[in-house]
Amino acid sequence: MDAEHASATRGPVAVPLSATVTTSSATMTASGAPTTASGATGEPGAVRATGAPRDGGLLDRFGRVATDLRVSVIDKCNLRCTYCMPADGMPWLPQTQLMSADEIRRIVRVAVQSLGAEELRITGGEPLVRKDLEVIIAGIREDNPDLPISMTTNAVGLDRRAQALKDAGLNRVNVSLDTLHPETFAELTRRPHLDKVLAGLQAARAAGLGPIKINAVLLRGINDTEVVPLVDWAVSNGFEMRFIEDMPLDGDRSWSATNVIPARDIRAAIEEAFTLTADPRGRGAAPAERWEVRRPGETALAGHVGIISSVTEPFCAACSRTRVTADGRIRSCLFSHEETDLLTALRDGADDEGLAQIWRDAMWAKPRAHGSDRVGLARADFVQPERTMSAIGG
Ligand code: SF4
Repeated sequence: MDAEHASATRGPVAVPLSATVTTSSATMTASGAPTTASGATGEPGAVRATGAPRDGGLLDRFGRVATDLRVSVIDKCNLRCTYCMPADGMPWLPQTQLMSADEIRRIVRVAVQSLGAEELRITGGEPLVRKDLEVIIAGIREDNPDLPISMTTNAVGLDRRAQALKDAGLNRVNVSLDTLHPETFAELTRRPHLDKVLAGLQAARAAGLGPIKINAVLLRGINDTEVVPLVDWAVSNGFEMRFIEDMPLDGDRSWSATNVIPARDIRAAIEEAFTLTADPRGRGAAPAERWEVRRPGETALAGHVGIISSVTEPFCAACSRTRVTADGRIRSCLFSHEETDLLTALRDGADDEGLAQIWRDAMWAKPRAHGSDRVGLARADFVQPERTMSAIGG
């Protein structure tokens, strides 16, 4: 956090992080509102003993407000990407622990209508593995007619469902695709499904699920020579290419900072074949730094590229994200070591305001960056969260 950002906060709050986290319905009142650290419920509008506000949106101790909601609808996936999951032996959530379509709908409604969430990203695992995905999206759309709804997907099977998802109310998709080579795809994802991904992308475009963004994680010695071909292919097809630095959320626990392809190297590689200009729309709270792409000697815009530099150029000071896992746990940060159980409270009968207050308390305790109050994924004392990327949702 820089000094300028820190000065915009509500002032110092001397509360140990562990004291601000509500982890079960056992601490709730009959209305579903959790008690404060002192046991009092407090009055509406008051600041709670933990420091969390009693009304309004999802403010944290560092003055950030979370408006970007990411909800995982399932932990399972039909691929096994090496940077995300082990080859096998992944324990899936039992069906009874997964949020139902109605429960997801209710949680999104609370986030949007009580807490000011401005956009929703559906994540997984792989959301398309859920057979009732169209029902989930239609319910959310019915409650929130103007909410931008996007989905991160690997697009396997999207060719058969793109139009139905669009009709249900999905606006656009981010498709994970790390390589254009079938052999590399099979090595990276442990499944030979590149043709299915490409068919899914075509269907998404035909259904109008755009603008479509392509997410690629670059891995040293595997697909790091594909930067320029991927940008060329993406802009030629009207997609926005986004490169994501490899993060320590892998199932094999084999991530190493030395293997990360840094954002500056990715930019340099692209600039060997294209002209990059900073996107005049700026970045805001978005994780990707965006660039306009032009072909050499041409003034016409060819497309856009984004680079997400979580490791080498962290952007946590402007983070606006709040996540809910497929089993209904709030994660205030992608790398959090603590979660807040929203689903048990919902199933125990909490009302909307009770759920909203649990969420406010959880987000108040959001760590400064990377799951702790110290910044940096490559630092020696960084501890990888127990859940892998697939179990958290991107
Ligand atoms: S690491 Fe945590 S705080 Fe930083 S951008 Fe990601 S979710 Fe936000």
